[in-house]
Amino acid sequence: MNKKNTVSLDSFMEKCRELNFKITPQRIAIYKEVANNKEHPSIDKVFRKVKKVFPHISFDTVYRTLQSFADAGIVRVVEGYGQPKRFDADIENHHHMHCIKCNAIIDFYNERYDNIEIPKEVKKKFHVVSKKVILEGLCNDCKSIK
Ligand SMILES: [Zn+2]
Ligand SMILES: [Zn+2]
Repeated sequence: MNKKNTVSLDSFMEKCRELNFKITPQRIAIYKEVANNKEHPSIDKVFRKVKKVFPHISFDTVYRTLQSFADAGIVRVVEGYGQPKRFDADIENHHHMHCIKCNAIIDFYNERYDNIEIPKEVKKKFHVVSKKVILEGLCNDCKSIK
């Protein structure tokens, strides 16, 4: 595992300043929830957690905040798992294991996958900016349920 520590509050604050994003305690709480939750949480999950600290926060605020974080590249929308949308605070290259039973999304890091070769015919019609390997299967918890 060669995990670089890219998810930190410092880099979040720095990015917000760069983008002229207002930093509020609510926004910090929303970011932290995505960053500390390794499960790639949905908006609903983030909302329920943040609401414990800020009881008056609305779902809509969480929704719009996460969307603007995603638009700004502060978090990523995890692609390819249908609805609801899931979010990832780790914006560096990494890969996912997706459990088709419980919908867990688990990070993994692999240099060989990072350097995967793009086929010539793909290169001709598509400019690749990032590569991600998604493995589908059963997580250990689901595998043990017979
Ligand atoms: Zn599972
Ligand atoms: Zn991830």
